[in-house]
Amino acid sequence: MSGLELRNIVKNFGAVEVIRDVSLAVNDGEFVAFVGPSGCGKSTLLRLIAGLDKPTGGTIAIDGKDVTAIGAADRGLAMVFQSYALYPHMSVRENLAFGLENTKVAKAEIEARIADAARMLEIEPFLKRRPGQLSGGQRQRVAIGRAIVRRPDAFLLDEPLSNLDAELRVSMRAELAALHARLKATMIYVTHDQVEAMTLANRIVVLRGGKIEQVGTPLELYNKPANRFVAGFIGAPH
Ligand code: ADP
Ligand code: MG
Repeated sequence: MSGLELRNIVKNFGAVEVIRDVSLAVNDGEFVAFVGPSGCGKSTLLRLIAGLDKPTGGTIAIDGKDVTAIGAADRGLAMVFQSYALYPHMSVRENLAFGLENTKVAKAEIEARIADAARMLEIEPFLKRRPGQLSGGQRQRVAIGRAIVRRPDAFLLDEPLSNLDAELRVSMRAELAALHARLKATMIYVTHDQVEAMTLANRIVVLRGGKIEQVGTPLELYNKPANRFVAGFIGAPH
């Protein structure tokens, strides 16, 4: 059974149809990138998957179970935003623990998860600092760490590297690839950066105007773009 299934998803904001009949199946452990120009609906689609917003039409299933009416907290997913969304008045370690403390996860287990994520992301030296005392790259690592400690079935990442400078983006890209290889979790990754999508994703979903133009492996999209738009976006000669 596929990990995540979107069936005929529609989302309207007022009279505007922002997501128009999107259907997609994502396999367990797959790294899928959503690409497309600004305003094409990438973030909206991710928020619908996360349960932060409800679709106007269609259904969302996780591991075969319809979760369309289920809230974000009960979907077993973790979202990482471009803006980090860290709590400025809390230390890094408090930011990592937040959201786990009032759950069934035991204190010792929380400690172990924080230690593990901090080691993996090399943020151990900063655990006592506040987000304001960190660089952009360090903050982004903390935001990813906060997702990791939740042990989600899937990570939803919305342009997580877009606030970083070019050099850092390249090194974080490699770290994300290593993370995916290690955690073997499903990752849905929104980006407007084709290179990021081409290097990281198992499959790429090209969106335009709220609709899917094409879904395929990076090589399929590069070699056989469905149309000029996809070709132009992926950067194959045409
Ligand atoms: P992307 O992430 O691809 O840049 P978005 O999903 O953020 O695109 O937005 C898709 C479209 O939906 C845009 O036209 C945007 O203005 C509109 N939109 C997004 N969120 C809202 C909202 N809460 N209310 C009204 N319109 C919205
Ligand atoms: Mg967006």
